[in-house]
Amino acid sequence: MAGNFYSVRCPDCENEQTVFGKAASAVACAVCGTTLAHPTGGDASFEGEVIETVERRDTGGELTDTGT
Ligand SMILES: [Zn+2]
Repeated sequence: MAGNFYSVRCPDCENEQTVFGKAASAVACAVCGTTLAHPTGGDASFEGEVIETVERRDTGGELTDTGT
């Protein structure tokens, strides 16, 4: 169902970028263009170091909005 997101560190410029775990196409670093993730048909294959796994939480779809 809902996929996870991963914080991946670019091996070239150390930019940290959030990448969808089931990326359907290659994901490039926004800073230097190095490919950070390759699609595999399932979970993507990451090039850089995965710093953090960000689990998507489905808690009823309600987000607490403190900004307004
Ligand atoms: Zn980079």
